[in-house]
Amino acid sequence: LLVVNGLTTQFESKNGPLTVVDGVDFTLKKGEVLGLVGESGCGKSVTSLSILQLLDKYGKISSGEVLYENTNLVNKTEKEMKKIRGKEISMIFQDPMNSLNPVLTIGKQIGEVIEKHEKVKGAKLKQKVVDLLNLGGIPRADEIFHEYPHRLSGGMKQRVMIAMAIACNPTMLIADEPTTALDVTIQAQILDLLRSLKDELDMSILLITHDLGVVAEMCDRVVVMYAGQVVETTDTRTLLRNPRHPYTEGLIQATP
Ligand code: ATP
Ligand code: MG
Repeated sequence: LLVVNGLTTQFESKNGPLTVVDGVDFTLKKGEVLGLVGESGCGKSVTSLSILQLLDKYGKISSGEVLYENTNLVNKTEKEMKKIRGKEISMIFQDPMNSLNPVLTIGKQIGEVIEKHEKVKGAKLKQKVVDLLNLGGIPRADEIFHEYPHRLSGGMKQRVMIAMAIACNPTMLIADEPTTALDVTIQAQILDLLRSLKDELDMSILLITHDLGVVAEMCDRVVVMYAGQVVETTDTRTLLRNPRHPYTEGLIQATP
């Protein structure tokens, strides 16, 4: 489904270009949950933003390709990328406020996402939003519809972001640390939700995390990054039993 080939991303800095993603290669197969693991600052988020062509003006892909169903996304125009982000590849961002608009009610902003790719209005639109909130496992969806993001707990916000991300019925979902900021019970619920949505909507998932518990529970295969590079790619079982890179070994030892 997705093939990332020699992806290299640089940011402008005072001392010239800084390479933060350095020749990254991996493949996400259809139907798979692929983990992208690595310590803070190793380039996981920048890799996902590069895939979606969402780098800010200081960042740019200097080489490599991102093949989505055999078409290279790297040279697509913003208009073409909007289409792809609107119906093929959705993302749950690491920072909730990157997805949620603080001055719009939940109902309004999910409605806007739906309106982008479906011509529905009024009561029908509202019903679609409520259906999505229900799909996201949000209780009292009718009330949440009228709430502003800051009134929701972290777990609820995360459910809203998931509901928003699946509004376009995407083929692929990139979830950047979807459970990191949540307590363990809520974490487990969110992971359950992602798993059931994956099956229900037939999605493939790129799951970014630095939590091996999440990897063990969710991922079919894992790509480990270190300092901007991929240092190992293997199935989850092999990674947990027989890690090859010192970073992965250390991470396994540090995990209870
Ligand atoms: P974390 O686990 O903490 O989320 P990460 O692996 O996602 O870490 P990235 O956010 O991908 O790390 O960042 C990789 C490197 O790129 C870091 O050194 C970061 O400071 C740098 N970086 C990220 N975004 C920008 C930006 N917009 N401008 C300049 N440098 C950036
Ligand atoms: Mg990150």
